[in-house]
Amino acid sequence: MYRRMGLFRCLACGATSDVYAAVCGRCWEDKTLVPVARRAGAEIDRAPAVLRANEVLASAWRMTQLHPYGLTIGSRSLVLVSGPPGGGKTTWSLTAADSVSGACVVVSAELGHGPALAALLARCAVKRPDVIIADAALSVDGLVQLAREHDARTIVVDSCQEAWLDGREMRHVIGLLPRLVALVAVAQVNRFGSPAGERALEHEADLHVRVEGMTWSLAKNRFGPCDKSGPVLRERSQLEATVC
Ligand SMILES: [Zn+2]
Repeated sequence: MYRRMGLFRCLACGATSDVYAAVCGRCWEDKTLVPVARRAGAEIDRAPAVLRANEVLASAWRMTQLHPYGLTIGSRSLVLVSGPPGGGKTTWSLTAADSVSGACVVVSAELGHGPALAALLARCAVKRPDVIIADAALSVDGLVQLAREHDARTIVVDSCQEAWLDGREMRHVIGLLPRLVALVAVAQVNRFGSPAGERALEHEADLHVRVEGMTWSLAKNRFGPCDKSGPVLRERSQLEATVC
C-alpha cells in the first residue's frame, strides 16, 4: 500500500500520533515515538458506501459457518486475528477464509509471494485458484477493485499494520463490497498483548480471535458467546510445524 510521511507510532503500545512528543500520550513511556509512514489517500476514501436495506439486514440474518473452527459469523463481518509472531495468525486466517465458498483476496503484505507463503499455503492445504494473493504494492483502491472483479466473499489483510489500514478504513472497504462475508484482519500485537495501533481496531471488530502457540481463543464475539477455543490446525504433524 502506498505511503506518505507525517505520522508517529509508539514502540511500546502501538498508539499513533500526528505530532511528535517526548512522552507517549497513551502509555506514558519516555522517548518511544518514532516516525512511521502513512498510506496515501485513496479514491475509495471519499467514495460513499451505499447499501440497500436488505444488504444491511443480511449482516444480521445471513450467517456463515467457519467450519474449521465451529464459528458462525454474520455477513460483512470484520474479523480481527491478533497474536505474537509465529503463533499461527496467518494459518488461522487462511483456513477460515478458505472454508467460505467464493473468491478470496489475500493482501500478503508481510510474506509477499515468497517460499514462506508457499509453505504456509501447503500446510493449510489452500490451493483454490480463486484465492488471489497480492503483495504489499496493492493500493487500497486496487484491493477494492480486485475484490469487485472476482466477486470476492472474503478478504484477508496480513497484516493490517503493514498494509496501513485501520479499523475504520477496513469497515469502509466492507461497506463498499455488499456481497462480502468477512474481512479478516491479521494484527501484530504490542508488548502488552493488544493489537498494535488504534484501540479502534478492537472496537470495530465483530469477532476478535487471539492466536498464540497454534491455539486460538475468542476475545470478542458479536454473534455468540466467547467460550470457544482450540488448535489452529487439527493434524498433529501440522500442529508441530513452525508457521508464521
Ligand atoms: Zn505508548
